Amino acid sequence: MAAESWSDADLMARCVRCELEVAAVDAPLDGCPRCREHGMGSNFALLVPISPGMPLVEDEAPGIWRFAPRLPLVPPEDRITLGEGGTPLFELPRFPGLPEGADLWVKDESLNPTLSYKDRFMAAAMSRARYQEERIVAASSSGNGGASAAAYAARAGLRCVIFTTVGIPPPPRRQIESVGAELIALPSTSVRWDLLQATVEEWGWYPLTNFADPPNGSNLFGIGGYKTIAYEIVEASAVPEIDWVVVPLSMGDGLHGIWQGFVELEQLGLIDRLPRMVSVEPAEAAPVASGFAAGADHLDAVPTSSSVAYNVGSSRSSEQALAAIQASDGLALAMPEIEILPLKAELAAECGVHAEASAALALWGARQVLGAGQTAVSVVTSSGLKDPDPAAPPGKILEPIEPTLEALRMVLPEGFVTG
Ligand SMILES: [Zn+2]
Repeated sequence: MAAESWSDADLMARCVRCELEVAAVDAPLDGCPRCREHGMGSNFALLVPISPGMPLVEDEAPGIWRFAPRLPLVPPEDRITLGEGGTPLFELPRFPGLPEGADLWVKDESLNPTLSYKDRFMAAAMSRARYQEERIVAASSSGNGGASAAAYAARAGLRCVIFTTVGIPPPPRRQIESVGAELIALPSTSVRWDLLQATVEEWGWYPLTNFADPPNGSNLFGIGGYKTIAYEIVEASAVPEIDWVVVPLSMGDGLHGIWQGFVELEQLGLIDRLPRMVSVEPAEAAPVASGFAAGADHLDAVPTSSSVAYNVGSSRSSEQALAAIQASDGLALAMPEIEILPLKAELAAECGVHAEASAALALWGARQVLGAGQTAVSVVTSSGLKDPDPAAPPGKILEPIEPTLEALRMVLPEGFVTG
């Protein structure tokens, strides 16, 4: 694609719930205004045109941009990459507890540049930020998203602020601080969203992640990056037809992005049938499993307690996961907390995969749904190196601030506040 011919003028986006269509450049990053009027957070998804025979890949392009024909998000000169994607897909023949003839495959996303699948999202979202000439990007994160945002912002030459809570484990915290992003702690997730929203509305910062409550999910351009997981799974000829794709769930960005990828592959004629999408949340924080089990057409907040799977689980989730699960005739499951760390250890010992605790949810989900002769792909979202080390001494104390712009102004270095 020649740079001079690139344009996003015709790119459309559609609400995943009510199907309202808007120009992608006008799609609000806090989701569909019509759904929000009814008290629901629902994201827009990009409608990338399909035409017969169009290519899936641009051979020489690096990272997720190898699939540039399906990611018309920015002109070529604004593509940011750290070499994300191209992760291994391998079978787990010795994984215990599977029925006869069932095949379980792992898409090992721990081999991305910052060790998590968020890198596919951030490559896409950060490229869009650079294309739009944004100056400061910001994200709300419990760990993986922040680590990835910080790295890709450094690569893009953008200043970056990560809003977290004091519970962020040392490994992602080190990743964020080592590449020069500002790490700001707040007392809770919901006030984290409030303050991010204030910086977006008052100071013009560019949001990479969810900032609205009820949440709609993260930046719609970034979610396009997750489609590449579906493309890579289908490209790997070793995998027969897939019955199930199992993903640990928080805001549903990853699950919905992967689903979008499979839908496009079917429209392109590259697969004959779609897999069923399965979300798995920790039972301690499972709004999607709760809404799904109740047959609800939208999600409510649920009570939570803390989980070792700290990267997933929240009192609220967005409508996009439920939309993908229902459209695929899938399932929304909740994993008992007591089984998470033993399964993480089992995966490491039996199969040689040192995954984050949250990734154990995807393996557990596959064990629940796989029938005889069926095939599932579990997405291992991040590395076990991201989990807190119980033997490590505590680091510098991270002091939470009040969730106000004035308090934030006081702790930021020069140049972040222009208003
Ligand atoms: Zn809507």
